Amino acid sequence: MHSADPQQLPVTVLTGIGSQTAERLQKLGIQTLQDLLFHLPLRYQDRSRITPIADLRVGSSALVCGTIEFIDTIQRGRNSLICRISDASGALSLRFFHFSAYQSQRFKPGIMIGCYGELRYGYSGLEMVHPDYKIVTDSAGLTEANLTPVYPLTEGLGQNSLRKMINQAISLCLGNEATITDYLPATLLKHHGFPNLKEALLTLHNPTPPLSAALLDTGKLPALQRLVFEEFLAHHLALQQGKQNYKYGQSPVFNSHPISKQLFIDNLSFTLTQAQLRVISEIEADCSQTRPMLRLLQGDVGSGKTVVAALSAFLALTTGYQVAIMAPTELLAEQHLQNFSRWFAASEYRIEFLSGQLKGKARQAVLEGLNSGEINIVIGTHALFQECVNYQKLGLIIIDEQHRFGVNQRLALREKGQISGLRPHQLIMTATPIPRTLAMLNYSDLDISIIDELPPGRKPVKTSVIPAERRAEVIQRISHWVNQKRQVYWVCTLIEESELIQCEAAEKTAAYLAQALPEIRVGLVHGRMKAGEKDSAMQAFKSAQCDLLVATTVIEVGVDVPNASLMIIENPERLGLSQLHQLRGRVGRGDQDSYCLLLYQSPLSTVGKQRLAILKESNDGFVIAEKDMELRGPGEVMGTRQTGQIQFKIADLNRDSHILELIAPAANLILLEHPEAVPALIQRWLGHSHHYAEV
Ligand code: ADP
Ligand code: MG
Repeated sequence: MHSADPQQLPVTVLTGIGSQTAERLQKLGIQTLQDLLFHLPLRYQDRSRITPIADLRVGSSALVCGTIEFIDTIQRGRNSLICRISDASGALSLRFFHFSAYQSQRFKPGIMIGCYGELRYGYSGLEMVHPDYKIVTDSAGLTEANLTPVYPLTEGLGQNSLRKMINQAISLCLGNEATITDYLPATLLKHHGFPNLKEALLTLHNPTPPLSAALLDTGKLPALQRLVFEEFLAHHLALQQGKQNYKYGQSPVFNSHPISKQLFIDNLSFTLTQAQLRVISEIEADCSQTRPMLRLLQGDVGSGKTVVAALSAFLALTTGYQVAIMAPTELLAEQHLQNFSRWFAASEYRIEFLSGQLKGKARQAVLEGLNSGEINIVIGTHALFQECVNYQKLGLIIIDEQHRFGVNQRLALREKGQISGLRPHQLIMTATPIPRTLAMLNYSDLDISIIDELPPGRKPVKTSVIPAERRAEVIQRISHWVNQKRQVYWVCTLIEESELIQCEAAEKTAAYLAQALPEIRVGLVHGRMKAGEKDSAMQAFKSAQCDLLVATTVIEVGVDVPNASLMIIENPERLGLSQLHQLRGRVGRGDQDSYCLLLYQSPLSTVGKQRLAILKESNDGFVIAEKDMELRGPGEVMGTRQTGQIQFKIADLNRDSHILELIAPAANLILLEHPEAVPALIQRWLGHSHHYAEV
């Protein structure tokens, strides 16, 4: 692609785009004419014919033409302007909540008006709220031959002006003379029955009969599928390229002594499972190469990933390199700190903690120790990779519970650890099973190891689904449990992202339970507590000085207290199944029978019931994730709570996930036969705002 291509020109070459409009377009990620071409309609309006008022249906949208009968302003509730119109077949009200004096003066009885909008039932029967309208002298010229595209907008930018800009870009870049480079090889297009790029873009911006809005909405049109395909492909290629770039660098070779490694293993209080041993040797093989390891370790909750991380750290440490371990929450980082301190107690390695909460002199000391190399292992939150943190000799980065960080965050870290050209090995761990097709999008740059075996003696958690009306009964069960010297979690959930509200709910619940169960020691942990407070609450629970721990979902990942064997989750219907499975994974860590009570708010929808039933029936994270995806669609499963997931321009994971299947072979073909297309595709779809390929 060269600069003579009109699609590379800035939007300001178009008429009517000044610096202010350009700034607004920038908010939509639009800088060049190409960006305008790839700004595709969300949906379409059918203004190809005028519908008689008698034929209008509530819920549908239509173009109507009628004569104004009367206008009225209504003071009931919100002020509104009503304009009653009629045609030969019936009458309809147009309702405006925002209107100017000018507007109400223009509406006069007897005037003809054409309007397009969605129909609903209002106070006065059939009505349109804030329709698009035009005052006309006759109905000719109201209809449009083609469907009208509706584009995603941003503040200060109207549908009509955006349409005009896009039309200008189309005639400049896709007009008769112009060409736009299609980076997909013709053989590939033919194979999938896709149109070429120019045709696809023209179809989507300006669909002509017999294409209907309904057909376009299904997302089944080859023109759309082709672009979705190209978008997925661009993301996949970007990850591949990032991997290539990273792998191209030099890494330290870890060669630790087999005897000392065996000693480390013998000192553990348990025997490693076959799966753990296999994964450790996979990691060892990676780290004995001069190329950096990029490995994803998947293993269900409780499968024992932490000790695998410790052994990987051991390899780095004995070769003289530093190790950084990042966890998504302070709580989990603290727990890792304790485990690592215990496992490495016999060695001289200095282990420190670093999080955003560490301030002042203590923080300074850690930063200096990392810079000088006196600190060998640092455990913490994302603070580990802030600007000011410099490592003397970082050899291994371990990221725990990666699904809580976004893809971009993970990739940004890659750039960080490099010192004097040396690239640290990376071990990324997650308990969230990633369905195969989705893994192609988020993790196709990683080699995968799986721990497919739980430590011996684990009993599946027995899960019951109980309506909140039986709360009192559940509370009684707690005291019975505690009498047997066992411990309990009570988890408060809220759908709002507001941590504050969630923490308040947990505080209230803790107070209530303390009152209802006076003989029981109740603890509390939530995200708004200071690190020290959280820590002492967790310590009290760990050392069994507290019987019942009321918590928010901060305990979702990683927390490990084997004597806690009953968990009550309030409002489980509000969480994703994989998240519930993670939470539930906090119990069932010892050798006693464990229970999880899902205390739902009735009434529950059919799907809601089905979802909770899946948890009751299965203890297998992979099965749960697959079933959840069937019920809710991959977009929901991947997207909702997980910030930083990939944002697509046009692809919709729920609608288009079947296309993911086609990506890997196409990517291989392009990498082999058309490598020059790779950077162009990435630039077209991901622009400059991504970390994928930068290293
Ligand atoms: P996760 O994979 O969920 O991070 P953890 O690493 O927290 O799991 O391990 C869960 C618990 O199992 C911990 O208490 C850990 O010490 C213990 N554990 C790990 N490996 C084994 C093993 N091979 N045998 C027995 N217990 C183990
Ligand atoms: Mg863990």
